[in-house]
Amino acid sequence: MKQRVLGRTGISVTELCFGALPMGPRQKNLNLVECTDLVAFALQKGINFIDTAQMYETYLPIRKAMEKTGIRPVIASKSTASSYEGMEEAILEALSKLNISSIDIFLLHAARVDEKVFENRAGAFQCLKDYKQRGKIKAIGISTHNVNVVSLAAKMEDIDIIFPLLNKSGIGVLAGTIDDMKESIKEGYDAGKGIYLMKVLGGGNLIDEYCESVNFARNIGNYHSIAMGMVSREEIEFNINFFEGNYDPERVPTIKGYTKRYQVFEDLCIGCKSCTKICPNFAIDFDDVKKKAFINTNRCLTCGYCTSACKEFAIRMI
Ligand code: SF4
Ligand code: SF4
Repeated sequence: MKQRVLGRTGISVTELCFGALPMGPRQKNLNLVECTDLVAFALQKGINFIDTAQMYETYLPIRKAMEKTGIRPVIASKSTASSYEGMEEAILEALSKLNISSIDIFLLHAARVDEKVFENRAGAFQCLKDYKQRGKIKAIGISTHNVNVVSLAAKMEDIDIIFPLLNKSGIGVLAGTIDDMKESIKEGYDAGKGIYLMKVLGGGNLIDEYCESVNFARNIGNYHSIAMGMVSREEIEFNINFFEGNYDPERVPTIKGYTKRYQVFEDLCIGCKSCTKICPNFAIDFDDVKKKAFINTNRCLTCGYCTSACKEFAIRMI
């Protein structure tokens, strides 16, 4: 696959990035052998860029896939930590679990935040800067769904990488419209930031419009890579072929089988509301009569982040 350099970082990545979230415990929950096989297959097929996160719990299969193939891809990870110590722990965890001495990209994992994120999480951001200076991280930045945060990050000297949300329906875009997000992304791109996009299929909600949705993102032009979650060899092959311009339209319906939906199982829900605070798209409401949480499916990005907040395992993918 053709590669592009992520802004001014000097890091060369394929236009298609392997999103590690969906195969892991937050979503499809494939086992270690299956996950390792998927990552290894993606690497052998030429994808050289993997996006993961502390929260995704997918370091081990990535490490095993690297050992199995002998291929060292560009790895981006991120953490929701706010403090210096929390971020330091997250970086060291990534290096240790991936068995690498330095990581290419590490981000503030900051989906549902506003422009105060750099104040509120000043300790965590300072830690990223320090570890970059020590050569343990090559590039730092932020992943976000918020238009204003993308715009702010575009202006910040210390930011190398922005990982914004974009899709043709604006699903999940916070603090602005699709056009506002496109404008902010352009600001970042023009400022020399490495840009890779997330949720171009709206977390699976746009799978029925796969070609239009992926082409919408590609047509904005101001990006270097697009992260797409993949949970089967078939999906990996299909996406690679699509990005290389020789996809088979007949196979689109097959990959549509990988749709997913989250539900709160009322019998298990104790009404603690923890999940409502973590959802990046405000998709979880609370029924004050039943004293149970419920998911507003037309806002749900199917990211699975709420599963990590629910100690009762009441939120499950169905
Ligand atoms: S975190 Fe779990 S138990 Fe608490 S309200 Fe949400 S679904 Fe219910
Ligand atoms: S309800 Fe929110 S946190 Fe849970 S999967 Fe949907 S978008 Fe993600």
